Amino acid sequence: MRILYFSLRRGAIVVPFVFIIIGIILYLISCRSEPTLIRTPGTFYMVHTQNKVVSLTFDDGPDPLFTPQVLDILKEENVKATFFVIGKAAEANPAILQRIIGEGHVIGNHSYTHDYRQRTLATEIAKTDQVVFAATHAHTHFYRPPGGIVAKAQLEIVKTNGHIFTLWSLDSRDWVNPGPTQILRTVVDNVFPGSIILLHDGGDRRGQTIAALPTIITRLRSMGYSFVSLEELRHMDNSSIPTGWE
Ligand SMILES: [Zn+2]
Repeated sequence: MRILYFSLRRGAIVVPFVFIIIGIILYLISCRSEPTLIRTPGTFYMVHTQNKVVSLTFDDGPDPLFTPQVLDILKEENVKATFFVIGKAAEANPAILQRIIGEGHVIGNHSYTHDYRQRTLATEIAKTDQVVFAATHAHTHFYRPPGGIVAKAQLEIVKTNGHIFTLWSLDSRDWVNPGPTQILRTVVDNVFPGSIILLHDGGDRRGQTIAALPTIITRLRSMGYSFVSLEELRHMDNSSIPTGWE
C-alpha cells in the first residue's frame, strides 16, 4: 500500500510535468517553424530562374493610412511591386489606385469582399476589375484568392476569366505581427531567385510591415537581389519545365 501510495503521488507530480514540457517543446517548434514552399500546380507562385530577382506583393489594401507609406518607401528605394487590392477598399480609395499605377506598380485583383469561401468568385473578380479600371484605365491581370485558398473549380473559373491565379512562394508572416525584425528574418532566410514575397498593406495595422520594408529592400539588395513587378517576373521564367499557369 505504501509503495502504491508513493508511486501514485509521484505520478500525480510527474505526469502533468511531462505534459507541460511537451507543451513547451511544441510551442517552441511552432514559433521556429519557417514558411516552406507549397507547390500548387496551375498557379503562379514563383518562376524558375538563376537570376536573383524577386517580386514584392502587398495584399488587402488600399488603406488610406498604410498604402501611401508603403508607396513612399518603394518610391524612395525605386522598387516596383504589385498590390492585390480588395474591390471594396479600392472603391473607397480611387486616388491611391491612381498613385499605384502612376508610380509604375501593378494592381492585382484580391476579390471584392475578401470572402474566403469565394462563393461569387466570378462576380467579385469582375466587380473589382471594374473599380480598378474606372479609376486607372488599367485592367487587373493577376488574381489572388483571399487567404490563398485554392479549389480546383475556382482555379478553372479564374483561368476562364483570363486572370492568372497568383499565390506566393515566400510568406513573410507579417499578418501575425511578429515584430519588424522577425518579418525581416523570415524574408531573408527564405528568399530564393524567382520568389514571390507576400506582404500586407491593409486589412489590419501594418506598422510592422512598414517598419521592416526599408531593411528588407536593403538586405535583399546587399544579397544581390533586384525587384520586379509580377508582370516582369512572369516573363523571366527560363526553365524548360512547363509552368502550367500561362
Ligand atoms: Zn487577403
